[in-house]
Amino acid sequence: MSEGIYEKLREIRHYLHQHPEISENEFETTAFIKKHLKDLGIEPLAYPLKTGVIAEIGSGQPIIALRADIDALPIIEKTGLAYASKNGAMHACGHDFHQTSLLGAAQILKEREAEIKGTVRFIFQPAEENFQGAYQVIEAGGIEGVSAIIGYHNNPHLKPGQIGLRSGAIMAGVEQFEVTVAGISAHAARPDLGVDTVLAITTMIHNLQQIVARTVSPFDSAVLSVTHIDVGTTWNVLPAKGFFEGTIRTFDPKIRLTVIDKFTKIVETTAEQFGAQVSIQWGNSPKVTYNDATLTPLIFENSKTFAQVIETLPSTGGEDFAAYQEKIPGVFAFVGSNGADNAPDWHHDDFIVKDDALPTAVNYFVENAFKLLEYYRS
Ligand SMILES: [Zn+2]
Ligand SMILES: [Zn+2]
Repeated sequence: MSEGIYEKLREIRHYLHQHPEISENEFETTAFIKKHLKDLGIEPLAYPLKTGVIAEIGSGQPIIALRADIDALPIIEKTGLAYASKNGAMHACGHDFHQTSLLGAAQILKEREAEIKGTVRFIFQPAEENFQGAYQVIEAGGIEGVSAIIGYHNNPHLKPGQIGLRSGAIMAGVEQFEVTVAGISAHAARPDLGVDTVLAITTMIHNLQQIVARTVSPFDSAVLSVTHIDVGTTWNVLPAKGFFEGTIRTFDPKIRLTVIDKFTKIVETTAEQFGAQVSIQWGNSPKVTYNDATLTPLIFENSKTFAQVIETLPSTGGEDFAAYQEKIPGVFAFVGSNGADNAPDWHHDDFIVKDDALPTAVNYFVENAFKLLEYYRS
């Protein structure tokens, strides 16, 4: 990458960082990307998306899609950077970095357009943080005709210049649950006349911890966290209703179903034991981000030409990139973005991505787009 492109991308990233927009509100970000693509001579395509941009270079089959997400989080930034956001939202997951690298890839691929045999499709995806954007892109027809898709997430635990990759699960399947429990209200001094919602809820939460400890094999893994309880209002009344919520993370579609099944049984039988009513709501969250067994080794080897590639462990975070992989083969990598021992993690108010991580991210898109075009042509 030339020094000129690098300087320009740095500027773009800082601008986007300073002007973050949360999921499904990425209107100015969308306008910015469209204008930048037009300046490069790339006309955005007319897909029915409220926010987000899809564009292409080249023509005909095969079509390789490169995906970057563009949304920010409702977090007040505390990095103290000169280009820190002041609008109450923050690119605390580094999606400013992702979209900038895809703009960089678009520029380089446009310059090398004559070498493209087939089509490269750029997907600037909205609303990753609320797990809706990939579904919106798919529904809009954004991956129709696409042979394969690649994407990545910056990873602050890897250094700039490093790429982490593995076949199979690289990010967790995410379950979001809300459990509503209805007992019968009573005076705190006469619990025998009611159904104790407080005790029912706390017993459920306690029992749910058996699942990972006693149902999942020691050679597999799962995480179950209850993060929020809301029950009762005062000291001398047993409440009629209560609520708790949290999340489950798994890395294997079979274990995912086992854990969900056990969760449901424990919640229902515990409610029954107390004589309480219960209902469980499951959120619309992503399944396991599961890397294609054929394409991943290809991307792994090819990425060694421009990066230090490391066999990584999966992350317990979720990614709606999984939605694409349910439809077409896909590879999702980690691109090193910090690497300091105390580097703040995703979604922290002091999260920082290093500028010098950009060239590796751009190369990841450019070089692997060429590799996959070649693979699908032969
Ligand atoms: Zn995030
Ligand atoms: Zn993210």
